[in-house]
Amino acid sequence: MSEKLSFVHPTPNSPWGTYLQQVDRVVPYLGDLAKWAETLKRPKRALIVDVPIEMDDGRIAHYEGYRVQHNMSRGPGKGGVRFHPDVTLEEVMALSAWMTVKTAAVNLPYGGAKGGIRVDPKKLSLKELEKVTRRYTSEIGIIIGPHTDIPAPDVNTNGQIMAWMMDTYSMNTGGTATGVVTGKPLHLGGSLGRVKATGRGVFVTGREAARRLGLDLRGARVAVQGFGNVGSVAAELFAEAGAKIVAVQDHTGTVVNENGLDLEKLIPISRTPAGAAGFEGGDKVPNEQFWEVACDILIPAALEGQITAERAKKTKAKLVLEGANGPTVPEADDILAERGVLVVPDVICNAGGVTVSYFEWVQDFSSFFWDEDEINVRLDRIMMNALNQIWDTADKHKITLRTATYAVACERILMARQERGLYP
Ligand code: NAD
Repeated sequence: MSEKLSFVHPTPNSPWGTYLQQVDRVVPYLGDLAKWAETLKRPKRALIVDVPIEMDDGRIAHYEGYRVQHNMSRGPGKGGVRFHPDVTLEEVMALSAWMTVKTAAVNLPYGGAKGGIRVDPKKLSLKELEKVTRRYTSEIGIIIGPHTDIPAPDVNTNGQIMAWMMDTYSMNTGGTATGVVTGKPLHLGGSLGRVKATGRGVFVTGREAARRLGLDLRGARVAVQGFGNVGSVAAELFAEAGAKIVAVQDHTGTVVNENGLDLEKLIPISRTPAGAAGFEGGDKVPNEQFWEVACDILIPAALEGQITAERAKKTKAKLVLEGANGPTVPEADDILAERGVLVVPDVICNAGGVTVSYFEWVQDFSSFFWDEDEINVRLDRIMMNALNQIWDTADKHKITLRTATYAVACERILMARQERGLYP
């Protein structure tokens, strides 16, 4: 970690640096609330933990873990946990801040938080993965809880990991605290519709953006980067609506087919170690070519910082749907806007996951569970209401959808801050 790291001096082009620029861009639209804007530039609390475990071969390994609570003005912290070899404190700070904006954008009663461990889970046995998860949960147990901060899945974490987190927290506190995490398996207080919720939200916001652009989804060409929980579900829903998935990239490589990739065959292969690169039903191309594929809709659904200025100049897409968090750097945002490419920003586009996480949390507290139709109807309604309000704000001020989302969200966050007042 850089010795110069601080809340206000980010590493250039880092996710945190991107986030700070996004905040700067909204300040002129905040009116009197602008005096509180500095609040958004500082995480409330950041915890770094050592995660030591005994490996299967008897060695002791140490991993670095984080939990950052960026802002809790509007409610408890909410945000996923990422297991990835490149995780840093600065990255988790940015991801937690985007959660603050996202929960406010869809008006859920949460603040923003995020966690992560710098580990490659693909190199761990199942037993080692469980130990890492449990020790990490125990270490961050001093700041998480059903009423304080509620983790959820993110990159390389899933329902099984949430079950271990819930169990560990419950063992440490007594009782069974189902509401401490969301994204759990169904029989442990999980919600129907949660697994597909983020991809579904990408589709719902994307369908509305396409409608406003006059872009018919039937026959529309879609390119998807990142083919995990978010990317593969979004791809399936666009394909069901008649679109062609012409390119997919994951960590194993890029596969292209201008007639449309056969998702029924591609999805199972992408779940194996061979990944998308192991799929025979398309041409394998060098990864950089993904960004120039002839397509109408581009869905980045992998990691941050993927749409650089260079790639923004190359893309043929008319519409970018940010399934990933922070996939577009600010310079690229400007290039896309100048080129007339519409970007539905992460903080609304991928908010479907946290919305159904909220439903899960509410269901856990009431011990009454809804059916899947009810979940999906409520999800679609919340996403559409939020998007329409953001679109009106963008039209009113003639600003991008990203700055408009920040304007709507930051007004809610800073109003809460102002009404609560500063303690002491
Ligand atoms: P996941 O672990 O299920 O899938 C990640 C995908 O990205 C995999 O297909 C992997 O191969 C691919 N990938 C990783 N590194 C890559 C690289 N260098 N180049 C190309 N592809 C690469 O993760 P996920 O849950 O689908 O999350 C993806 C993105 O969506 C992340 O930015 C995450 O923060 C965001 N997100 C996830 C959720 C959720 O509910 N899971 C909610 C909101 C946002």
